[in-house]
Amino acid sequence: MLKGCRTLDYKNDSALPAIEGGRPVRDKMLPYARQLIEQDDIDAVTEVLRSDWLTTGPTVAEFERRFAARVGARYAVAVSSGTAALHAACFAAGLGRGDEVITSPLTFVASANCALFLGAKPVFADIDPDTYNIDPAEIEKKITAQTKAIIPVHFTGQPCDLDAIHDIARRCKLSVIEDAAHALGAEYKGRPVGGLSDMTVFSFHPVKHITTGEGGMVTTNDEELYQWLLLFRNHGITRDPEMMTENHGPWYYEALDLGFNYRLTDIQAALGLSQLRKLDRFLARRRAIAAIYNEAFAQIPAVRIPWQAPYGRTAWHLYVLSLNLEQLKKDRAEIFAALRAENIGVNVHYIPVYRHPYYRWLGDPDSCSLQGFYCYQAEELYRRLITLPLFPAMTDRDAADVVAAVRKVLARAAA
Ligand SMILES: *Cc1c(COP(=O)(O)O)cnc(C)c1O
Repeated sequence: MLKGCRTLDYKNDSALPAIEGGRPVRDKMLPYARQLIEQDDIDAVTEVLRSDWLTTGPTVAEFERRFAARVGARYAVAVSSGTAALHAACFAAGLGRGDEVITSPLTFVASANCALFLGAKPVFADIDPDTYNIDPAEIEKKITAQTKAIIPVHFTGQPCDLDAIHDIARRCKLSVIEDAAHALGAEYKGRPVGGLSDMTVFSFHPVKHITTGEGGMVTTNDEELYQWLLLFRNHGITRDPEMMTENHGPWYYEALDLGFNYRLTDIQAALGLSQLRKLDRFLARRRAIAAIYNEAFAQIPAVRIPWQAPYGRTAWHLYVLSLNLEQLKKDRAEIFAALRAENIGVNVHYIPVYRHPYYRWLGDPDSCSLQGFYCYQAEELYRRLITLPLFPAMTDRDAADVVAAVRKVLARAAA
């Protein structure tokens, strides 16, 4: 009798969301993303620590060569972060005061900040409600005589509609800088993302596909852009006699422009090289987990799984669910809190960039309004999005926990 009661209690307890006092699906928080570092990664780094070179040297050169080959680009320039890569690409594209740069509002602030670093103005073109990527028709609407570049962001790793974007760029003489921070290993019409536009930018932050701690890369097929990128990474300094205005001797170098110290170290590049060798395995694992989620959630009317356009193959940096709020009696914040209580480290990507106070002040310094920036589809999606954990070190058991927690929380929230 007593035993029966206990069983009943336990059953009720596990069906009840943790946020209402039930037992959480997991005891320990599962993060939304994290790096996967193995012994050979550690060995590669310690080998460099024992060598003559610590900062930018032969290992960076090797990392650049292998990376360029992997993404199908002629040149790659390694820098200290994805943000530095965006800054360098905007510099190489010649952006400056008064220029306008069109990007997506549904991205990390760095995709727009890079224009501001050079005195240019970011302009937000709304997203496509199916792919969540920048909508080429919306780009057209935002083009002015000042527009100089487009920064399409491959949100979650799904490639943007690049043919349509390149067509606009060709007609209006604009540079295209792809923000592929989510898209290492993604393909557009069967070709890897990395050699398809003027420049492509990657990040090696620990949540991304491969990591160097902090780090980034710009790839290009254009020799002249390549030279500008090299210059910018190293204080604007050159030692190339063909580029210098004078030459006083072997010690001589010249600063030709205002660059930064955006160098990656050989220590980091060793980790990057080691990680790059594992990219295919990491991608396969991401795809397997995404397939588990797709299968589990496709038939749940309260959520929409990520739709994939036929021209692309996503790299699955993020797995985002869009809540069908009309079918729920709880909002995103409540569902977010309920999933966190189950120890599922959900996240939200992204707060539309123009909503950040710094951007509101830029848009209208007096009233702090969203005037001039507001994007309807990005707003609609922002209310609904929730990012589920997805990273190569996740086990099937971890994925099953996520599925169980989402099912449990949504069942309780169903209207
Ligand atoms: C991570 C990220 C960046 C910035 O990269 P860091 O290496 O963190 O500087 C830029 N854009 C997007 C879309 C990102 O996700």
